[in-house]
Amino acid sequence: MKFSKVINFYLLILLACCLMLFSGIAYATKAYAVERITVFYEHNDRISRKDFTVAIRQIENRMPIQVKVRVLNAPKNNCVRINSASSESRWKQVSCYHRLRIKLGINGYAIFATPPLEEDGQKYWGGVASGIGVHNGTATINISSNFVSIITVARHELGHLLGAMHDWASRIDSIMHPDVLQFASLDLKFSRWSIKEIWDFVY
Ligand SMILES: [Zn+2]
Repeated sequence: MKFSKVINFYLLILLACCLMLFSGIAYATKAYAVERITVFYEHNDRISRKDFTVAIRQIENRMPIQVKVRVLNAPKNNCVRINSASSESRWKQVSCYHRLRIKLGINGYAIFATPPLEEDGQKYWGGVASGIGVHNGTATINISSNFVSIITVARHELGHLLGAMHDWASRIDSIMHPDVLQFASLDLKFSRWSIKEIWDFVY
Protein backbone atom coordinates (compact mmCIF):
# COMPACT_ATOMS: atom_id res chain seq x y z
CA MET A 1 0.00 0.00 0.00
CA LYS A 2 1.39 3.35 -1.05
CA PHE A 3 1.64 6.10 1.54
CA SER A 4 -1.12 8.25 -0.06
CA LYS A 5 -3.40 5.23 -0.28
CA VAL A 6 -2.81 4.50 3.42
CA ILE A 7 -3.74 8.10 4.21
CA ASN A 8 -6.90 7.83 2.10
CA PHE A 9 -7.77 4.60 3.86
CA TYR A 10 -7.43 6.20 7.30
CA LEU A 11 -9.32 9.29 6.13
CA LEU A 12 -12.16 7.04 5.03
CA ILE A 13 -12.23 5.29 8.41
CA LEU A 14 -12.15 8.67 10.16
CA LEU A 15 -15.02 9.91 8.02
CA ALA A 16 -17.06 6.78 8.78
CA CYS A 17 -16.42 7.25 12.51
CA CYS A 18 -17.49 10.89 12.32
CA LEU A 19 -20.68 9.91 10.52
CA MET A 20 -21.46 7.25 13.14
CA LEU A 21 -20.76 9.69 15.96
CA PHE A 22 -22.90 12.38 14.33
CA SER A 23 -25.86 10.09 13.75
CA GLY A 24 -25.44 8.80 17.32
CA ILE A 25 -25.57 12.34 18.67
CA ALA A 26 -28.55 13.18 16.46
CA TYR A 27 -30.36 10.07 17.68
CA ALA A 28 -29.54 10.79 21.32
CA THR A 29 -30.74 14.39 20.99
CA LYS A 30 -33.97 13.17 19.45
CA ALA A 31 -34.51 10.48 22.06
CA TYR A 32 -34.07 12.96 24.87
CA ALA A 33 -36.04 15.80 23.29
CA VAL A 34 -38.12 17.48 25.95
CA GLU A 35 -41.63 18.56 25.02
CA ARG A 36 -42.68 21.81 26.65
CA ILE A 37 -46.16 21.96 28.14
CA THR A 38 -47.68 25.24 29.31
CA VAL A 39 -50.64 24.75 31.60
CA PHE A 40 -52.94 27.71 32.25
CA TYR A 41 -54.78 27.87 35.53
CA GLU A 42 -58.14 29.64 35.55
CA HIS A 43 -58.86 30.99 39.01
CA ASN A 44 -61.67 29.07 40.76
CA ASP A 45 -62.81 28.25 44.27
CA ARG A 46 -62.30 24.48 43.96
CA ILE A 47 -58.53 24.32 43.93
CA SER A 48 -55.86 26.95 44.59
CA ARG A 49 -53.18 27.71 42.04
CA LYS A 50 -50.60 26.27 44.47
CA ASP A 51 -52.39 22.92 44.91
CA PHE A 52 -53.14 22.75 41.20
CA THR A 53 -49.45 23.25 40.40
CA VAL A 54 -48.46 20.42 42.76
CA ALA A 55 -50.97 18.11 41.05
CA ILE A 56 -50.24 19.02 37.45
CA ARG A 57 -46.44 18.83 37.81
CA GLN A 58 -46.89 15.14 38.54
CA ILE A 59 -47.58 14.45 34.88
CA GLU A 60 -43.87 15.10 34.23
CA ASN A 61 -43.04 11.65 35.62
CA ARG A 62 -46.07 9.96 34.13
CA MET A 63 -45.68 10.36 30.36
CA PRO A 64 -43.83 7.97 28.00
CA ILE A 65 -41.59 10.83 26.86
CA GLN A 66 -39.85 13.63 28.72
CA VAL A 67 -42.07 16.63 29.28
CA LYS A 68 -41.44 19.87 31.12
CA VAL A 69 -44.47 21.57 32.63
CA ARG A 70 -44.86 25.20 33.57
CA VAL A 71 -48.02 26.66 35.11
CA LEU A 72 -49.22 30.19 34.34
CA ASN A 73 -52.32 32.08 35.36
CA ALA A 74 -54.78 32.24 32.47
CA PRO A 75 -55.15 35.79 31.18
CA LYS A 76 -58.61 37.38 31.16
CA ASN A 77 -60.61 35.68 28.44
CA ASN A 78 -64.11 34.92 27.19
CA CYS A 79 -63.47 31.24 26.47
CA VAL A 80 -64.26 30.32 30.05
CA ARG A 81 -67.83 31.49 29.49
CA ILE A 82 -68.47 28.81 26.89
CA ASN A 83 -69.27 26.21 29.49
CA SER A 84 -72.11 24.03 28.32
CA ALA A 85 -71.30 20.33 28.18
CA SER A 86 -72.59 19.73 24.65
CA SER A 87 -69.91 18.47 22.31
CA GLU A 88 -70.42 21.57 20.11
CA SER A 89 -69.69 23.88 23.09
CA ARG A 90 -66.70 21.86 24.23
CA TRP A 91 -65.27 22.07 20.74
CA LYS A 92 -66.00 25.82 20.63
CA GLN A 93 -64.21 26.22 23.96
CA VAL A 94 -61.05 24.41 22.91
CA SER A 95 -60.98 26.37 19.61
CA CYS A 96 -61.36 29.63 21.56
CA TYR A 97 -58.43 28.70 23.83
CA HIS A 98 -56.39 27.62 20.84
CA ARG A 99 -56.80 31.09 19.30
CA LEU A 100 -55.86 32.62 22.67
CA ARG A 101 -52.61 30.62 22.91
CA ILE A 102 -51.67 31.70 19.38
CA LYS A 103 -52.31 35.33 20.39
CA LEU A 104 -50.10 34.80 23.44
CA GLY A 105 -47.33 33.32 21.26
CA ILE A 106 -47.08 30.08 23.26
CA ASN A 107 -44.87 27.41 21.69
CA GLY A 108 -45.17 23.72 22.47
CA TYR A 109 -48.33 22.21 23.91
CA ALA A 110 -50.89 24.22 25.87
CA ILE A 111 -53.47 22.95 28.36
CA PHE A 112 -56.14 25.22 29.80
CA ALA A 113 -57.59 24.11 33.13
CA THR A 114 -61.16 25.40 33.33
CA PRO A 115 -64.02 24.87 35.78
CA PRO A 116 -66.45 21.97 35.25
CA LEU A 117 -69.00 22.35 32.44
CA GLU A 118 -72.69 22.61 33.21
CA GLU A 119 -75.73 21.21 31.43
CA ASP A 120 -79.24 21.04 32.92
CA GLY A 121 -77.90 21.83 36.38
CA GLN A 122 -75.40 18.95 36.19
CA LYS A 123 -71.64 19.45 36.32
CA TYR A 124 -69.31 17.62 33.98
CA TRP A 125 -65.60 16.91 34.20
CA GLY A 126 -63.41 15.82 31.35
CA GLY A 127 -61.27 17.31 28.66
CA VAL A 128 -60.96 18.00 24.95
CA ALA A 129 -57.85 17.90 22.76
CA SER A 130 -57.66 20.02 19.61
CA GLY A 131 -56.58 16.94 17.66
CA ILE A 132 -54.64 13.69 17.70
CA GLY A 133 -50.94 14.20 17.06
CA VAL A 134 -50.76 17.97 16.61
CA HIS A 135 -47.55 19.88 17.22
CA ASN A 136 -48.38 23.01 19.21
CA GLY A 137 -51.78 21.51 20.03
CA THR A 138 -54.16 22.83 22.66
CA ALA A 139 -56.33 20.96 25.16
CA THR A 140 -58.87 21.93 27.79
CA ILE A 141 -59.32 20.07 31.04
CA ASN A 142 -62.41 20.73 33.15
CA ILE A 143 -61.15 20.20 36.64
CA SER A 144 -62.43 19.42 40.10
CA SER A 145 -60.43 19.67 43.31
CA ASN A 146 -59.47 16.01 43.04
CA PHE A 147 -55.73 15.51 42.40
CA VAL A 148 -56.15 12.08 40.85
CA SER A 149 -58.76 13.19 38.32
CA ILE A 150 -56.71 16.30 37.39
CA ILE A 151 -53.63 14.19 36.70
CA THR A 152 -55.66 11.53 34.88
CA VAL A 153 -57.47 13.88 32.53
CA ALA A 154 -54.32 15.94 31.84
CA ARG A 155 -52.34 12.82 30.91
CA HIS A 156 -55.19 11.55 28.72
CA GLU A 157 -55.61 14.80 26.74
CA LEU A 158 -51.85 15.29 26.44
CA GLY A 159 -51.67 11.71 25.17
CA HIS A 160 -54.07 12.69 22.35
CA LEU A 161 -52.03 15.78 21.43
CA LEU A 162 -48.90 13.62 21.35
CA GLY A 163 -50.46 11.18 18.90
CA ALA A 164 -52.33 8.56 20.92
CA MET A 165 -55.87 7.55 19.93
CA HIS A 166 -58.46 5.98 22.21
CA ASP A 167 -57.39 2.61 23.41
CA TRP A 168 -60.63 0.62 23.17
CA ALA A 169 -58.94 -2.72 23.08
CA SER A 170 -56.91 -2.38 26.25
CA ARG A 171 -58.04 -3.38 29.68
CA ILE A 172 -59.36 -0.58 31.86
CA ASP A 173 -55.95 0.23 33.35
CA SER A 174 -55.04 2.16 30.18
CA ILE A 175 -54.86 5.94 30.45
CA MET A 176 -56.12 6.27 26.85
CA HIS A 177 -59.35 4.36 27.55
CA PRO A 178 -62.29 6.55 26.42
CA ASP A 179 -64.01 6.28 29.83
CA VAL A 180 -60.82 6.81 31.80
CA LEU A 181 -62.33 9.23 34.34
CA GLN A 182 -64.65 6.49 35.57
CA PHE A 183 -61.69 4.59 36.96
CA ALA A 184 -59.19 7.43 37.46
CA SER A 185 -56.10 6.34 39.39
CA LEU A 186 -52.42 7.20 39.62
CA ASP A 187 -51.61 3.62 38.61
CA LEU A 188 -53.06 3.95 35.11
CA LYS A 189 -50.50 3.35 32.38
CA PHE A 190 -50.03 4.13 28.73
CA SER A 191 -50.46 0.78 26.98
CA ARG A 192 -47.68 -0.48 24.72
CA TRP A 193 -49.85 0.47 21.75
CA SER A 194 -50.29 4.08 23.02
CA ILE A 195 -46.55 4.38 23.71
CA LYS A 196 -45.83 3.25 20.15
CA GLU A 197 -48.27 5.84 18.75
CA ILE A 198 -46.64 8.60 20.83
CA TRP A 199 -43.08 7.59 19.93
CA ASP A 200 -44.01 7.37 16.24
CA PHE A 201 -45.41 10.92 16.41
CA VAL A 202 -42.73 12.56 18.53
CA TYR A 203 -39.61 10.87 17.16
ZN1 LIG B 1 -59.99 10.91 24.82
